[in-house]
Amino acid sequence: MILVGLTGGIGSGKSTVSALLAERGAVIIDADAITREVQLPGSPVVKELADRFGAEILAADGSLERQALANIVFTDPEALKALNAIVHPAVGREMNRRLIEQRTTDHVVILDIPLLTENPREGLQGRIVVDVPVETQIRRLVAHRGFDEADARARIARQATREERLAGADFVVDNSGTPDDLSPQIDRLWEWLTGLDQLPADYEPITPKPNGGEKQSS
Ligand code: ADP
Repeated sequence: MILVGLTGGIGSGKSTVSALLAERGAVIIDADAITREVQLPGSPVVKELADRFGAEILAADGSLERQALANIVFTDPEALKALNAIVHPAVGREMNRRLIEQRTTDHVVILDIPLLTENPREGLQGRIVVDVPVETQIRRLVAHRGFDEADARARIARQATREERLAGADFVVDNSGTPDDLSPQIDRLWEWLTGLDQLPADYEPITPKPNGGEKQSS
């Protein structure tokens, strides 16, 4: 297994890049998707959240009322810490389980983690950063993802800065151009990825330490 992280600010095109890598044969372990999965109705995480925050965070069908939960943690740092302390370990365990499933293969495994800069993870062979100017992020979030501009700016302001992200990059994908401009970069990226050493078959994933809940999980 070859193991790298992929990150980028919201609206940078991280999902787009991750889909292009999957087309080449990469195995994507998607932190956002896992975060949603571990919070499906009836899951142990949802039960713990309801115990901590009360039944008002549950809809009638047992699914999580994300907005209700977001409203609680938005103004209460202790509640945010508690939320992260419940959700992050569950996500970490599931990511590690999937990694262990891959460690005896020769696959390129991509950990797709939006907040990798905010919550660094050891044991990766490299970090790919999808980079665009902030104004491009905002434009795409408004045009394609239904954000209003103020909301897009507020979300970006709560994430690491572009400079912080780039400081930890081993490979930068510049997504300031058209989707077609990505293609040659993905070719170079794939060449770089497949040239990295294979990790040993008994590779043990390193579980990131909780960061004390400074940033919300997604
Ligand atoms: P992220 O996963 O980083 O939040 P996405 O991959 O979802 O970002 O991209 C944000 C939006 O911008 C999506 O609607 C996507 O289709 C669009 N997009 C991605 N790359 C480009 C590009 N180079 N030009 C125009 N739109 C793009």
